Amino acid sequence: MHITKSPALLRTLTHKNLTWEINNRPGEIFLTFDDGPIPGITPEVLSILDKYKARATFFCVGDNAAKHHDVYRQIQQAGHATGNHTFHHLNGWKTTAEAYVEDVALCSRVIQSSLFRPPYGRIRPSVIQQLKKEYRIVMWSVLTGDYDRNLQPEKVLRNAIENTTSGSIVVFHDSLKAADNMLYALPRFLDYFSEKACRFSVIE
Ligand SMILES: [Zn+2]
Repeated sequence: MHITKSPALLRTLTHKNLTWEINNRPGEIFLTFDDGPIPGITPEVLSILDKYKARATFFCVGDNAAKHHDVYRQIQQAGHATGNHTFHHLNGWKTTAEAYVEDVALCSRVIQSSLFRPPYGRIRPSVIQQLKKEYRIVMWSVLTGDYDRNLQPEKVLRNAIENTTSGSIVVFHDSLKAADNMLYALPRFLDYFSEKACRFSVIE
């Protein structure tokens, strides 16, 4: 089963340390793109966002940002925010706290940001305690499911539209796996919420 919305109880229990949504900015939606930058895909996202005057936050994998630094610079030059998503896209439940924090530090050499998002949303409580001193740890309120190849693009779009409200943090992926679904859903999502006079802002 695909869960689009993050569980309310989990959000309530962890809201002091983790950001799940941003409620003090009415009319704003916070788009995020995980796992890039990827040549050919990330630039396409940038040109779609530009068409709608939308800004977004890109949680980049350090290894990708190092390999494709020109694409990484394009994200920044277009006025978007970037965040740390570890260097090797680590699973926080399968990695020791020490190795995980080291990988975040390695990523921070390429990606200078005060934002962090754990891959898969998996992070140990002890790692939260360490990283929260340096980072705003950003989760999400809406998971579009764009990476799920069993989901049709129309379903991804519907998930995204039906679950997004003012203040939502929405996850898309600028990855090879998600590209077909994401490139279908993103412009239509932007169309829908632009007509409702929403603004698309970076997370700070
Ligand atoms: Zn990821």
